[in-house]
Amino acid sequence: MKMLLLLFSLSVLGIQTFAQKEKIIVVIDPGHGGSDPGHLSSNKNHLPEKALNLLIAKKFGSYIEQNMKNVTIIYTRTDDSFPSLDDRVEKANNAKADYFISIHCNANARTNVHGTESHVHSMSSKKSVSLAKEFESEFSTRAGRHSRGVKDTDDREHSLQVLKFTNMTSVLVECGFLTNEKEANYLNTTNGQDIIASAIYRGFRSTIQKDYPAISFLKSGGSSNTTANTSGKGSSNSTAKSTGKFTIQIMSSKEPMDTGGESFKKIGLPVTRKKLNTTSAYKYLYTVGTYDSQEAAKKDLEKVQKNGFKDAYIVKVE
Ligand SMILES: [Zn+2]
Repeated sequence: MKMLLLLFSLSVLGIQTFAQKEKIIVVIDPGHGGSDPGHLSSNKNHLPEKALNLLIAKKFGSYIEQNMKNVTIIYTRTDDSFPSLDDRVEKANNAKADYFISIHCNANARTNVHGTESHVHSMSSKKSVSLAKEFESEFSTRAGRHSRGVKDTDDREHSLQVLKFTNMTSVLVECGFLTNEKEANYLNTTNGQDIIASAIYRGFRSTIQKDYPAISFLKSGGSSNTTANTSGKGSSNSTAKSTGKFTIQIMSSKEPMDTGGESFKKIGLPVTRKKLNTTSAYKYLYTVGTYDSQEAAKKDLEKVQKNGFKDAYIVKVE
């Protein structure tokens, strides 16, 4: 009887723990690495896929660190090493991660093929499909890329190991085709990588807010201590996060907008417009302020979010 009672209390406790989930874990997987360069551009000055994947993955992770709380980031690699596909899957499964996001760039024998793709194992895994759709929607609307849509094993006619064996919501993002000259050029610019990474960040942010409505993810102007653990034990990429200059990115546009206009005036802080050197349709970027630390930017971020730009976020100035 005692034993039964114990089991009963444990299961009650278990249910409570589940209901009180306070943090989520995301595994960010930059594809390839080390002796496996991934796809290559025909332009010899361009970076191989493995390097672009790592740059985009780290930017995505740093956006989470700078703007979100209650998210633990685990990278499958943070340097030019090659963890096996089994290692990557095992790392995510052992950590009991909630999301697995693999970052890749594509290639095709036909050089006119271009655009982004988000891959899932099966269309029946609803949460993965929903995250993949968010990514593609961000790519086509905000980032101005051509979206080739969400694909599954049937579309690909083969399964992807990192999607098949991971036990959580898993999406593999193809950020563009290195065999397409224009897209390879774009992916090799800092600005192109920033835009792709922020589209992934936005898609991830709206998905986790939908999936875990009880957890508060957005940092507000509170104590800086609350942000200390967001990089988590698995991340070795957080050393630079509080050094350098930061700004608040509020929006981008296709046509130049007057920074003295009504919608910007509401913020009560000067807005800067920057013209980007990009092939994207969104050529103008709007930011507020320059700050010596994320903490310093946080107060103004709150102000910006309250005054009509709730999607604004802090970015590091390159
Ligand atoms: Zn790849």
